[in-house]
Amino acid sequence: MSEVVTEAIVLHAFDYLETSRILRLLTREAGVQSVLARGARRSRRRFGSAMDLFAQGIAEIHIRPNRELQTLGALDITRARAELGQDVGRFTGASMISEIVLRFPYEEAAAGIFDTVEECLDRIAAAPPESTLEAALGGAWRIIAELGFTPALDVCANCHAPLDSTVSVTFSHSLGGALCKLCATSATGTRTLPPAARNALRTWVVGERVENLAATDARAHQRLLREFFQHHLGTDRELRAFRVWEQGAWSAA
Ligand SMILES: [Zn+2]
Repeated sequence: MSEVVTEAIVLHAFDYLETSRILRLLTREAGVQSVLARGARRSRRRFGSAMDLFAQGIAEIHIRPNRELQTLGALDITRARAELGQDVGRFTGASMISEIVLRFPYEEAAAGIFDTVEECLDRIAAAPPESTLEAALGGAWRIIAELGFTPALDVCANCHAPLDSTVSVTFSHSLGGALCKLCATSATGTRTLPPAARNALRTWVVGERVENLAATDARAHQRLLREFFQHHLGTDRELRAFRVWEQGAWSAA
């Protein structure tokens, strides 16, 4: 058994038996880990607010090789992110981010992913209610880029011909981005991407913000993002948090 002390963010948490909780942690040093927090429901003193979603701190994890569930020794919280629980748009956006991060499994150290998720959750937590959707969309595309799936936007994803940035293009999830006119004619399952939408993607993948995103555009972006994940993750598993986020935004508005 080895002990790892690493920064960690709680991405999922549920009660286990009478007194414990199971957490899924994104860690800086050991990727995603499922851990058992023994007695967490009985002793708030030992784990405090560390059992709450999106909290971040220093985790001490006892790892046994070839086990799915590890043991959490301690989790000292440095950032609770209580703001995420204070607004439904923030909470559903952050839950969507958690869901997609947990669907791309990796057990190795991934400092880049960790930093990106940390920054993304902080941004959603600080977003005023009218900007939470943009913050979550931007965070999701930034994470996609960090995972190595940045869509082609300025050259054709298929033949690499340069694309005019002022016109609408055809976007293909399976081919990995925007297409030139010629390649678009033979592609199936595509979507039209207007110049403003392409601009927004270009802005988000580098971690910047899109100002004044219109509600109708945000809705189209949610759909594009969902299709992207469905393509890359397979359609057999439902993206539940994503669906709540996508539907909730419009029932609230
Ligand atoms: Zn082409």
